[in-house]
Amino acid sequence: MAFKEVQAFLQKINSYIQLSPKELQLLQTPNQVLRQTLTVGGKKYLAYRVQFNNARGPYKGGIRFHADVSLDEVKSLSFWMSLKTAIVDVPFGGAKGGITVDPKGLAVKELQQLSRGYVRAFYKSLGSKRDIPAPDVNTNPQIMAWMLDEYEKLTGVRAPGMITGKPLELGGSRLRDIATALGGVYIFDEALQKIQIGAKTVVIQGFGNVGMNVAQILHARGFKIVGVSDSNGGIVNHNGLDIAKVVQIKKETGSVVKYLHAQRVTNEKLLTTHCSILIPSALGGVITTENMKLLNTSVILELANGPVAAEADDFLFEQKIVVIPDVLANAGGVTVSYFEWVQNNQGFYWTDEEVAQRLEEKMKSAFRAVYNQWQAKPYSLRTAAYIYGISKILGAERLRRSEEHT
Ligand code: NAD
Repeated sequence: MAFKEVQAFLQKINSYIQLSPKELQLLQTPNQVLRQTLTVGGKKYLAYRVQFNNARGPYKGGIRFHADVSLDEVKSLSFWMSLKTAIVDVPFGGAKGGITVDPKGLAVKELQQLSRGYVRAFYKSLGSKRDIPAPDVNTNPQIMAWMLDEYEKLTGVRAPGMITGKPLELGGSRLRDIATALGGVYIFDEALQKIQIGAKTVVIQGFGNVGMNVAQILHARGFKIVGVSDSNGGIVNHNGLDIAKVVQIKKETGSVVKYLHAQRVTNEKLLTTHCSILIPSALGGVITTENMKLLNTSVILELANGPVAAEADDFLFEQKIVVIPDVLANAGGVTVSYFEWVQNNQGFYWTDEEVAQRLEEKMKSAFRAVYNQWQAKPYSLRTAAYIYGISKILGAERLRRSEEHT
Protein backbone atom coordinates (compact mmCIF):
# COMPACT_ATOMS: atom_id res chain seq x y z
CA MET A 1 0.00 0.00 0.00
CA ALA A 2 1.27 3.43 -0.88
CA PHE A 3 2.38 5.46 2.13
CA LYS A 4 0.00 8.26 1.16
CA GLU A 5 -2.87 5.80 1.68
CA VAL A 6 -1.55 5.06 5.17
CA GLN A 7 -1.45 8.81 5.80
CA ALA A 8 -4.99 9.20 4.47
CA PHE A 9 -6.17 6.42 6.80
CA LEU A 10 -4.54 8.21 9.73
CA GLN A 11 -6.44 11.37 8.80
CA LYS A 12 -9.63 9.33 8.91
CA ILE A 13 -8.74 7.89 12.33
CA ASN A 14 -8.11 11.45 13.47
CA SER A 15 -11.81 12.18 13.08
CA TYR A 16 -12.45 9.69 15.90
CA ILE A 17 -9.61 10.46 18.31
CA GLN A 18 -8.58 14.07 17.63
CA LEU A 19 -4.81 13.90 17.58
CA SER A 20 -2.82 17.10 17.99
CA PRO A 21 -1.07 18.32 14.79
CA LYS A 22 2.25 17.22 16.36
CA GLU A 23 0.95 13.74 17.11
CA LEU A 24 -0.41 13.34 13.60
CA GLN A 25 2.88 14.52 12.19
CA LEU A 26 4.78 12.06 14.37
CA LEU A 27 2.62 9.14 13.19
CA GLN A 28 3.11 10.10 9.56
CA THR A 29 6.89 10.49 9.67
CA PRO A 30 9.50 7.75 10.00
CA ASN A 31 12.32 8.50 12.43
CA GLN A 32 14.99 7.42 9.98
CA VAL A 33 15.14 6.37 6.32
CA LEU A 34 18.30 4.53 5.26
CA ARG A 35 19.09 3.61 1.66
CA GLN A 36 22.07 2.16 -0.14
CA THR A 37 22.94 0.66 -3.50
CA LEU A 38 24.37 -2.86 -3.27
CA THR A 39 26.48 -4.37 -6.05
CA VAL A 40 26.54 -8.13 -6.66
CA GLY A 41 27.90 -9.81 -9.81
CA GLY A 42 28.29 -6.42 -11.48
CA LYS A 43 24.59 -5.59 -10.98
CA LYS A 44 23.21 -2.87 -8.72
CA TYR A 45 20.33 -3.32 -6.29
CA LEU A 46 18.48 -0.73 -4.20
CA ALA A 47 18.33 -1.57 -0.50
CA TYR A 48 16.29 0.12 2.23
CA ARG A 49 15.81 0.17 5.98
CA VAL A 50 13.11 2.40 7.39
CA GLN A 51 13.08 2.85 11.17
CA PHE A 52 9.65 4.25 11.85
CA ASN A 53 9.19 4.54 15.59
CA ASN A 54 11.07 3.26 18.64
CA ALA A 55 9.22 4.90 21.53
CA ARG A 56 8.21 1.47 22.91
CA GLY A 57 11.52 -0.35 22.36
CA PRO A 58 14.13 -1.22 19.73
CA TYR A 59 13.02 -1.09 16.09
CA LYS A 60 11.75 -4.44 14.78
CA GLY A 61 10.75 -5.59 11.30
CA GLY A 62 11.42 -8.00 8.46
CA ILE A 63 13.44 -7.71 5.27
CA ARG A 64 11.67 -8.33 1.97
CA PHE A 65 13.40 -9.35 -1.28
CA HIS A 66 11.07 -8.64 -4.19
CA ALA A 67 11.17 -6.95 -7.59
CA ASP A 68 8.37 -4.55 -6.51
CA VAL A 69 10.06 -3.35 -3.30
CA SER A 70 10.11 0.45 -3.16
CA LEU A 71 10.97 2.95 -0.47
CA ASP A 72 7.32 3.94 -0.33
CA GLU A 73 6.20 0.36 0.33
CA VAL A 74 8.89 -0.17 2.98
CA LYS A 75 7.68 2.99 4.72
CA SER A 76 4.11 1.67 4.91
CA LEU A 77 5.32 -1.70 6.18
CA SER A 78 7.49 -0.05 8.83
CA PHE A 79 4.54 1.99 10.10
CA TRP A 80 2.44 -1.19 10.36
CA MET A 81 5.23 -2.89 12.31
CA SER A 82 5.10 -0.05 14.86
CA LEU A 83 1.36 -0.62 15.22
CA LYS A 84 1.65 -4.41 15.35
CA THR A 85 4.22 -4.50 18.14
CA ALA A 86 2.00 -2.10 20.10
CA ILE A 87 -1.17 -4.13 19.50
CA VAL A 88 0.36 -7.45 20.65
CA ASP A 89 2.14 -5.59 23.43
CA VAL A 90 5.73 -6.63 22.79
CA PRO A 91 8.44 -4.12 23.81
CA PHE A 92 9.53 -3.12 20.31
CA GLY A 93 9.04 -0.29 17.89
CA GLY A 94 8.62 -0.73 14.16
CA ALA A 95 10.93 -0.89 11.14
CA LYS A 96 11.11 -2.67 7.81
CA GLY A 97 13.72 -3.40 5.18
CA GLY A 98 13.86 -4.51 1.60
CA ILE A 99 15.90 -5.00 -1.52
CA THR A 100 14.46 -4.43 -4.99
CA VAL A 101 15.41 -7.77 -6.51
CA ASP A 102 13.80 -10.87 -7.96
CA PRO A 103 15.70 -13.46 -5.92
CA LYS A 104 14.57 -16.27 -8.24
CA GLY A 105 16.97 -14.84 -10.81
CA LEU A 106 19.98 -15.16 -8.47
CA ALA A 107 22.38 -18.06 -7.90
CA VAL A 108 22.71 -19.13 -4.24
CA LYS A 109 26.15 -17.53 -4.06
CA GLU A 110 24.76 -14.21 -5.29
CA LEU A 111 21.86 -14.41 -2.85
CA GLN A 112 24.34 -14.89 -0.04
CA GLN A 113 26.46 -11.96 -1.23
CA LEU A 114 23.39 -9.74 -1.43
CA SER A 115 22.23 -10.75 2.07
CA ARG A 116 25.68 -10.09 3.53
CA GLY A 117 25.91 -6.83 1.55
CA TYR A 118 22.66 -5.65 3.17
CA VAL A 119 24.17 -6.10 6.63
CA ARG A 120 27.44 -4.40 5.65
CA ALA A 121 25.41 -1.43 4.39
CA PHE A 122 23.28 -1.01 7.53
CA TYR A 123 24.99 -2.82 10.41
CA LYS A 124 25.79 0.31 12.37
CA SER A 125 22.06 0.99 12.66
CA LEU A 126 21.16 -2.63 13.58
CA GLY A 127 21.60 -4.58 16.84
CA SER A 128 19.74 -6.38 19.58
CA LYS A 129 19.00 -3.13 21.43
CA ARG A 130 18.76 -0.95 18.33
CA ASP A 131 16.96 -2.58 15.38
CA ILE A 132 16.22 -6.29 14.94
CA PRO A 133 15.41 -7.59 11.42
CA ALA A 134 13.54 -10.81 10.55
CA PRO A 135 12.33 -12.67 7.44
CA ASP A 136 9.55 -11.44 5.16
CA VAL A 137 8.60 -12.26 1.56
CA ASN A 138 11.38 -14.31 -0.12
CA THR A 139 13.71 -14.26 2.88
CA ASN A 140 14.14 -17.28 5.14
CA PRO A 141 16.16 -18.76 8.06
CA GLN A 142 19.21 -19.39 5.84
CA ILE A 143 19.29 -15.71 4.85
CA MET A 144 18.94 -14.72 8.53
CA ALA A 145 21.92 -17.03 9.28
CA TRP A 146 24.11 -15.29 6.66
CA MET A 147 23.04 -11.90 8.00
CA LEU A 148 23.81 -12.85 11.59
CA ASP A 149 27.19 -14.25 10.58
CA GLU A 150 28.08 -11.08 8.68
CA TYR A 151 27.03 -8.88 11.61
CA GLU A 152 29.10 -10.94 14.04
CA LYS A 153 32.13 -10.75 11.72
CA LEU A 154 31.81 -6.98 11.52
CA THR A 155 31.29 -6.41 15.24
CA GLY A 156 33.47 -9.21 16.62
CA VAL A 157 30.82 -10.37 19.12
CA ARG A 158 28.26 -13.16 19.20
CA ALA A 159 24.91 -11.39 19.00
CA PRO A 160 22.09 -13.85 18.26
CA GLY A 161 19.46 -11.35 19.43
CA MET A 162 20.29 -8.93 16.57
CA ILE A 163 18.05 -10.85 14.14
CA THR A 164 15.11 -13.26 14.45
CA GLY A 165 13.74 -16.05 12.30
CA LYS A 166 17.14 -17.78 12.55
CA PRO A 167 17.65 -21.54 12.18
CA LEU A 168 17.27 -23.36 15.52
CA GLU A 169 20.99 -24.22 15.51
CA LEU A 170 21.89 -20.50 15.62
CA GLY A 171 19.42 -19.53 18.34
CA GLY A 172 16.12 -19.58 16.50
CA SER A 173 12.89 -20.19 18.39
CA ARG A 174 10.75 -23.26 18.14
CA LEU A 175 7.60 -22.60 16.07
CA ARG A 176 8.95 -19.37 14.50
CA ASP A 177 8.47 -21.01 11.09
CA ILE A 178 4.72 -21.41 11.61
CA ALA A 179 4.21 -18.49 14.01
CA THR A 180 2.41 -16.09 11.68
CA ALA A 181 -0.03 -18.76 10.54
CA LEU A 182 -0.57 -20.17 14.04
CA GLY A 183 -1.01 -16.69 15.52
CA GLY A 184 -3.63 -15.96 12.83
CA VAL A 185 -5.48 -19.13 13.76
CA TYR A 186 -5.50 -18.15 17.46
CA ILE A 187 -6.90 -14.75 16.50
CA PHE A 188 -9.53 -16.44 14.39
CA ASP A 189 -10.43 -18.83 17.25
CA GLU A 190 -11.05 -15.86 19.49
CA ALA A 191 -13.00 -14.03 16.78
CA LEU A 192 -15.28 -17.07 16.47
CA GLN A 193 -16.35 -16.49 20.08
CA LYS A 194 -17.78 -13.14 18.98
CA ILE A 195 -18.87 -13.51 15.35
CA GLN A 196 -21.06 -16.12 13.71
CA ILE A 197 -19.92 -17.88 10.57
CA GLY A 198 -21.91 -20.55 8.76
CA ALA A 199 -19.80 -23.10 6.96
CA LYS A 200 -16.09 -23.66 7.61
CA THR A 201 -14.89 -23.27 4.03
CA VAL A 202 -11.61 -21.49 3.37
CA VAL A 203 -9.83 -19.91 0.39
CA ILE A 204 -6.14 -18.99 0.77
CA GLN A 205 -4.18 -16.79 -1.64
CA GLY A 206 -0.42 -17.46 -1.45
CA PHE A 207 1.15 -20.77 -0.53
CA GLY A 208 4.49 -19.78 0.99
CA ASN A 209 5.48 -19.64 4.64
CA VAL A 210 2.19 -18.14 5.78
CA GLY A 211 -0.31 -19.60 3.30
CA MET A 212 0.97 -23.17 3.34
CA ASN A 213 1.15 -23.30 7.14
CA VAL A 214 -2.29 -21.80 7.68
CA ALA A 215 -3.71 -24.30 5.19
CA GLN A 216 -2.17 -27.19 7.12
CA ILE A 217 -3.25 -25.91 10.55
CA LEU A 218 -6.85 -25.18 9.52
CA HIS A 219 -7.15 -28.45 7.58
CA ALA A 220 -5.98 -30.35 10.67
CA ARG A 221 -8.69 -28.52 12.68
CA GLY A 222 -11.46 -29.70 10.37
CA PHE A 223 -11.85 -26.68 8.07
CA LYS A 224 -12.47 -27.43 4.40
CA ILE A 225 -9.86 -25.68 2.25
CA VAL A 226 -11.61 -25.19 -1.10
CA GLY A 227 -9.07 -23.03 -2.91
CA VAL A 228 -5.39 -22.07 -2.75
CA SER A 229 -2.97 -20.29 -5.07
CA ASP A 230 0.57 -19.12 -5.62
CA SER A 231 2.17 -16.77 -8.15
CA ASN A 232 1.52 -19.35 -10.92
CA GLY A 233 -2.25 -19.46 -10.36
CA GLY A 234 -4.88 -21.14 -8.23
CA ILE A 235 -6.77 -24.40 -7.75
CA VAL A 236 -10.35 -24.84 -6.52
CA ASN A 237 -12.34 -27.89 -5.43
CA HIS A 238 -15.58 -27.20 -3.56
CA ASN A 239 -15.43 -30.69 -2.00
CA GLY A 240 -12.13 -29.72 -0.36
CA LEU A 241 -8.47 -30.01 -1.34
CA ASP A 242 -6.22 -32.75 0.02
CA ILE A 243 -3.80 -30.31 1.68
CA ALA A 244 -1.05 -32.87 2.40
CA LYS A 245 -1.04 -33.71 -1.31
CA VAL A 246 -1.05 -30.03 -2.36
CA VAL A 247 1.92 -29.38 -0.04
CA GLN A 248 3.79 -32.33 -1.53
CA ILE A 249 3.11 -31.11 -5.08
CA LYS A 250 4.15 -27.56 -4.19
CA LYS A 251 7.42 -28.89 -2.77
CA GLU A 252 8.08 -31.20 -5.73
CA THR A 253 7.10 -28.91 -8.61
CA GLY A 254 7.36 -25.41 -7.10
CA SER A 255 3.65 -24.68 -7.63
CA VAL A 256 0.21 -25.76 -6.43
CA VAL A 257 -1.21 -25.68 -9.95
CA LYS A 258 0.07 -29.18 -10.77
CA TYR A 259 -2.45 -30.66 -8.27
CA LEU A 260 -4.82 -32.65 -10.48
CA HIS A 261 -8.04 -33.01 -8.46
CA ALA A 262 -9.16 -29.41 -8.79
CA GLN A 263 -10.16 -26.78 -11.28
CA ARG A 264 -7.40 -24.35 -12.28
CA VAL A 265 -8.28 -20.69 -11.78
CA THR A 266 -6.52 -17.36 -12.00
CA ASN A 267 -5.58 -15.52 -8.81
CA GLU A 268 -8.36 -12.99 -9.59
CA LYS A 269 -10.95 -15.76 -9.80
CA LEU A 270 -9.61 -17.43 -6.66
CA LEU A 271 -10.32 -14.31 -4.60
CA THR A 272 -13.99 -14.32 -5.62
CA THR A 273 -14.52 -18.06 -5.02
CA HIS A 274 -17.39 -18.84 -2.63
CA CYS A 275 -16.17 -19.53 0.93
CA SER A 276 -16.81 -18.40 4.49
CA ILE A 277 -13.23 -17.30 5.26
CA LEU A 278 -10.90 -15.69 2.72
CA ILE A 279 -7.25 -15.57 3.79
CA PRO A 280 -5.00 -13.37 1.63
CA SER A 281 -1.44 -14.61 2.36
CA ALA A 282 0.59 -13.24 -0.54
CA LEU A 283 1.11 -9.61 -1.47
CA GLY A 284 -0.61 -6.31 -0.70
CA GLY A 285 -3.36 -4.51 -2.64
CA VAL A 286 -5.14 -7.59 -4.01
CA ILE A 287 -8.68 -6.59 -2.95
CA THR A 288 -9.55 -3.37 -4.71
CA THR A 289 -12.50 -1.38 -6.05
CA GLU A 290 -12.26 -3.61 -9.15
CA ASN A 291 -13.07 -6.87 -7.37
CA MET A 292 -14.62 -5.88 -4.02
CA LYS A 293 -18.20 -6.32 -5.27
CA LEU A 294 -17.41 -9.81 -6.51
CA LEU A 295 -16.17 -11.19 -3.19
CA ASN A 296 -18.06 -14.22 -1.93
CA THR A 297 -17.02 -14.51 1.69
CA SER A 298 -18.23 -13.39 5.12
CA VAL A 299 -14.82 -13.02 6.83
CA ILE A 300 -11.40 -11.87 5.57
CA LEU A 301 -8.46 -12.87 7.76
CA GLU A 302 -5.59 -10.67 6.55
CA LEU A 303 -2.40 -12.68 6.95
CA ALA A 304 -0.67 -10.76 4.14
CA ASN A 305 0.29 -7.17 4.85
CA GLY A 306 -2.11 -4.66 3.29
CA PRO A 307 -4.15 -7.02 1.09
CA VAL A 308 -7.23 -4.72 1.11
CA ALA A 309 -6.68 -1.43 -0.71
CA ALA A 310 -7.87 1.60 1.25
CA GLU A 311 -10.69 2.40 -1.22
CA ALA A 312 -12.17 -1.10 -0.81
CA ASP A 313 -12.12 -1.06 3.00
CA ASP A 314 -15.19 1.16 3.50
CA PHE A 315 -17.22 -0.89 1.05
CA LEU A 316 -16.42 -4.15 2.88
CA PHE A 317 -17.45 -2.53 6.17
CA GLU A 318 -20.77 -1.38 4.66
CA GLN A 319 -21.34 -4.91 3.32
CA LYS A 320 -20.75 -6.28 6.86
CA ILE A 321 -17.86 -8.45 5.66
CA VAL A 322 -15.75 -8.81 8.80
CA VAL A 323 -12.13 -7.91 8.04
CA ILE A 324 -9.72 -9.08 10.74
CA PRO A 325 -6.92 -6.61 9.99
CA ASP A 326 -3.30 -7.46 9.21
CA VAL A 327 -1.89 -5.46 12.12
CA LEU A 328 -3.68 -7.89 14.43
CA ALA A 329 -4.12 -11.09 12.37
CA ASN A 330 -0.52 -11.54 11.20
CA ALA A 331 1.26 -10.35 14.36
CA GLY A 332 2.06 -13.94 15.41
CA GLY A 333 5.36 -13.73 13.49
CA VAL A 334 6.63 -10.71 15.38
CA THR A 335 5.33 -12.16 18.65
CA VAL A 336 7.42 -15.32 18.31
CA SER A 337 10.29 -13.14 17.06
CA TYR A 338 10.01 -11.38 20.41
CA PHE A 339 10.07 -14.77 22.17
CA GLU A 340 13.19 -15.65 20.13
CA TRP A 341 14.88 -12.41 21.23
CA VAL A 342 13.94 -13.07 24.88
CA GLN A 343 15.39 -16.60 24.64
CA ASN A 344 18.57 -15.25 22.99
CA ASN A 345 19.00 -12.65 25.73
CA GLN A 346 18.48 -15.24 28.46
CA GLY A 347 20.39 -18.04 26.72
CA PHE A 348 17.52 -20.29 27.82
CA TYR A 349 15.30 -21.99 25.26
CA TRP A 350 11.63 -23.00 25.39
CA THR A 351 9.74 -26.07 24.18
CA ASP A 352 7.13 -26.11 21.39
CA GLU A 353 4.39 -26.23 24.02
CA GLU A 354 5.77 -23.23 25.92
CA VAL A 355 6.03 -21.14 22.76
CA ALA A 356 2.55 -22.15 21.56
CA GLN A 357 0.95 -21.42 24.92
CA ARG A 358 2.57 -17.99 25.23
CA LEU A 359 1.67 -17.16 21.63
CA GLU A 360 -1.95 -18.15 22.21
CA GLU A 361 -2.16 -15.93 25.31
CA LYS A 362 -0.64 -12.92 23.51
CA MET A 363 -2.78 -13.23 20.37
CA LYS A 364 -6.06 -13.82 22.18
CA SER A 365 -5.52 -10.99 24.60
CA ALA A 366 -4.64 -8.67 21.68
CA PHE A 367 -7.87 -9.68 19.94
CA ARG A 368 -9.89 -8.98 23.08
CA ALA A 369 -8.25 -5.56 23.53
CA VAL A 370 -9.05 -4.57 19.93
CA TYR A 371 -12.56 -6.03 20.20
CA ASN A 372 -13.22 -4.01 23.37
CA GLN A 373 -12.09 -0.89 21.52
CA TRP A 374 -14.43 -1.79 18.65
CA GLN A 375 -17.63 -2.96 20.36
CA ALA A 376 -20.68 -1.12 19.05
CA LYS A 377 -18.57 1.65 17.51
CA PRO A 378 -19.45 2.95 14.04
CA TYR A 379 -16.13 1.87 12.56
CA SER A 380 -14.27 -1.23 11.40
CA LEU A 381 -12.06 -3.60 13.39
CA ARG A 382 -9.13 -2.12 11.45
CA THR A 383 -9.96 1.35 12.75
CA ALA A 384 -10.26 -0.05 16.28
CA ALA A 385 -6.88 -1.79 15.96
CA TYR A 386 -5.27 1.43 14.73
CA ILE A 387 -6.80 3.47 17.55
CA TYR A 388 -5.64 0.93 20.13
CA GLY A 389 -2.09 0.67 18.69
CA ILE A 390 -1.72 4.42 18.15
CA SER A 391 -2.79 5.19 21.71
CA LYS A 392 -0.03 2.91 23.01
CA ILE A 393 2.64 4.47 20.78
CA LEU A 394 1.57 7.98 21.68
CA GLY A 395 1.40 7.06 25.36
CA ALA A 396 5.07 6.05 25.23
CA GLU A 397 5.96 9.15 23.22
CA ARG A 398 4.22 11.40 25.75
CA LEU A 399 6.14 9.87 28.63
CA ARG A 400 9.41 10.53 26.80
CA ARG A 401 8.69 14.03 25.49
CA SER A 402 6.01 15.38 27.76
CA GLU A 403 6.74 19.01 26.98
CA GLU A 404 6.28 18.47 23.23
CA HIS A 405 3.12 16.36 22.98
CA THR A 406 0.84 17.29 25.83
P1 NAD B 1 6.62 -16.27 1.01
O1 NAD B 1 7.60 -15.68 0.09
O2 NAD B 1 7.01 -17.45 1.83
O3 NAD B 1 5.30 -16.70 0.18
C1 NAD B 1 4.61 -15.82 -0.65
C2 NAD B 1 3.58 -16.63 -1.43
O4 NAD B 1 2.79 -15.73 -2.24
C3 NAD B 1 4.19 -17.64 -2.42
O5 NAD B 1 3.40 -18.81 -2.44
C4 NAD B 1 4.08 -16.92 -3.76
O6 NAD B 1 4.00 -17.81 -4.87
C5 NAD B 1 2.76 -16.20 -3.58
N1 NAD B 1 2.61 -15.07 -4.49
C6 NAD B 1 3.54 -14.15 -4.86
N2 NAD B 1 2.99 -13.29 -5.75
C7 NAD B 1 1.71 -13.67 -5.89
C8 NAD B 1 0.63 -13.18 -6.66
N3 NAD B 1 0.78 -12.11 -7.45
N4 NAD B 1 -0.56 -13.82 -6.58
C9 NAD B 1 -0.70 -14.90 -5.77
N5 NAD B 1 0.26 -15.42 -5.03
C10 NAD B 1 1.47 -14.80 -5.10
O7 NAD B 1 6.10 -15.07 1.93
P2 NAD B 1 5.39 -15.18 3.34
O8 NAD B 1 6.43 -15.04 4.39
O9 NAD B 1 4.45 -16.32 3.32
O10 NAD B 1 4.58 -13.79 3.36
C11 NAD B 1 3.31 -13.69 2.75
C12 NAD B 1 2.61 -12.42 3.26
O11 NAD B 1 2.50 -12.48 4.68
C13 NAD B 1 3.34 -11.11 2.95
O12 NAD B 1 2.39 -10.10 2.72
C14 NAD B 1 4.11 -10.84 4.22
O13 NAD B 1 4.44 -9.47 4.38
C15 NAD B 1 3.09 -11.31 5.24
N6 NAD B 1 3.67 -11.63 6.53
C16 NAD B 1 4.61 -12.61 6.66
C17 NAD B 1 5.14 -12.90 7.92
C18 NAD B 1 6.13 -14.01 8.14
O14 NAD B 1 6.43 -14.31 9.32
N7 NAD B 1 6.61 -14.68 7.12
C19 NAD B 1 4.71 -12.16 9.04
C20 NAD B 1 3.73 -11.17 8.87
C21 NAD B 1 3.23 -10.92 7.61
